[in-house]
Amino acid sequence: MAMKKRVLVTGGAGFLGSHLCDFLIAQGEEVICLDNFFTGSKDNIRHLLSHERFELIRHDIINPIYLEVDEIYSLACPASPVHYQYNPIKTIKTSILGTIHTLGIAKRVRAKILLASTSEVYGDPEEHPQGESYWGRVNPVGIRSCYDEGKRAAECLMMDYHRQNGVRIKIARIFNTYGPRMALNDGRVVSNLILQALRGEDLTIYGDGSQTRSFCYVEDMIAGLAQLMNTPDDCIGPMNIGNPVEFTILALAEEVLRLTGSKSRIVHHPLPQDDPVQRKPDITQARNRLKWNPSIPLEEGLRRTIEYFQNTLS
Ligand code: NAD
Ligand code: UDP
Repeated sequence: MAMKKRVLVTGGAGFLGSHLCDFLIAQGEEVICLDNFFTGSKDNIRHLLSHERFELIRHDIINPIYLEVDEIYSLACPASPVHYQYNPIKTIKTSILGTIHTLGIAKRVRAKILLASTSEVYGDPEEHPQGESYWGRVNPVGIRSCYDEGKRAAECLMMDYHRQNGVRIKIARIFNTYGPRMALNDGRVVSNLILQALRGEDLTIYGDGSQTRSFCYVEDMIAGLAQLMNTPDDCIGPMNIGNPVEFTILALAEEVLRLTGSKSRIVHHPLPQDDPVQRKPDITQARNRLKWNPSIPLEEGLRRTIEYFQNTLS
């Protein structure tokens, strides 16, 4: 039988982090969940608090911390534009100082570390779909830069600790992911539209809704991240993980209206600055190296997410 590992999940009380903690506990691992509860919540992990293999640490990763672990999933960072733009200086500090401190742990105790990077490193892309070799088109001085440049710097740090200190690293570029436990005030498009539909409010589409995104259900994403972590040491990425089926935001809104049976109207708000026009991952690498393929189509994932929000609101 494989030895039980001690795994650190930074940002473990957030949307993706809490699902990852569930997955790792189910795998029989020991889990240390670290979070400062900026966008995460105790409710996401409450069911794990009394588990003997689960430990929670309230800590802000912009400050150093010393822990003994075998593997690290580095997820601590607000992911919704609304939240990462709320305190942009804090956001970029979280990505840069947070990644340095987390890599410091990995280096000191020889732990393997996976960074939750993002499709935002491609910015507003001219290449479509986006492959990992594309360097991206990021505005370095715009309102999304705190997040985009923060993650680009985090990737740079990962690579340099790997080249300079031999740290075992994995870089996952996560594309738009949705599902249960997105916060009610998260502000990202899937949770916004579902909540608006369920509450009978207008569905807010920014711009004309012709911009595209490719949505991955959380369960598929967690499987992909865990599979990447378990690859041999030479498989470091960066690797796109996401669902390549592309939708316009307008089509997403119409699907939400259909599945909720809501009578809400669609209204248009101004498009935020630097909002990417199109986004779709090329997942050839994940398919070949991980034998991973997303399996949950948007309709099914939306049904599960709608059910979650219905229960949360009732
Ligand atoms: P989330 O906001 O729900 O989770 C982030 C978690 O990190 C929260 O629990 C938050 O409290 C915690 N956190 C933030 N700053 C911290 C700090 N300074 N110290 C300690 N903890 C801190 O977002 P999510 O969707 O679960 O995203 C998780 C990770 O995945 C993030 O790094 C994000 O950039 C990345 N990602 C997510 C998506 C997506 O579509 N969900 C896409 C690309 C990348
Ligand atoms: N969006 C929208 N209505 C909303 C929230 C977002 O039309 O209530 C749009 C947003 O402008 C973007 C897309 O939906 O084009 C995805 O936005 P999100 O904030 O979910 O993530 P992004 O991929 O932009 O980081």
